[in-house]
Amino acid sequence: MTSCIFCQIVAGTAKAEIVYQDELVTAFRDIHPAAPIHLLIVPNRHIESVNFVGAEEEATAGRLFGVARQLAAERGIASDGYRLVVNTNHHGGQTVFHLHLHLLGGRSLRAMG
Ligand code: 5GP
Ligand code: ZN
Repeated sequence: MTSCIFCQIVAGTAKAEIVYQDELVTAFRDIHPAAPIHLLIVPNRHIESVNFVGAEEEATAGRLFGVARQLAAERGIASDGYRLVVNTNHHGGQTVFHLHLHLLGGRSLRAMG
């Protein structure tokens, strides 16, 4: 989807600090970090939200978690802990309608809502 900012980041036509990319997913730094480590992990293919994750997306959905685990381990936050968040639609606070997993860490997040 050419109008989607995350599709543009995946394609390399919009700038982002990409920290990981493979044939299914891309991870990059959030432009407005809410924690010392704040990465977004997105499917390369445009999927609007969790509401559009079908059986055919099983491998991609699994990869999002696998890459989150790997990035957390690489950054040394696995044992202290971290938070994975997926916002969906209005009540969930979703603002970019390309599925993304937030990986937040580097400080205690217990006070966050
Ligand atoms: P949401 O609120 O949809 O769950 O999260 C969207 C996230 O994308 C926000 O944390 C926001 O800071 C981030 N974001 C929005 N536009 C861009 C962008 O152009 N580049 C990057 N790197 N992050 C973005
Ligand atoms: Zn997209």
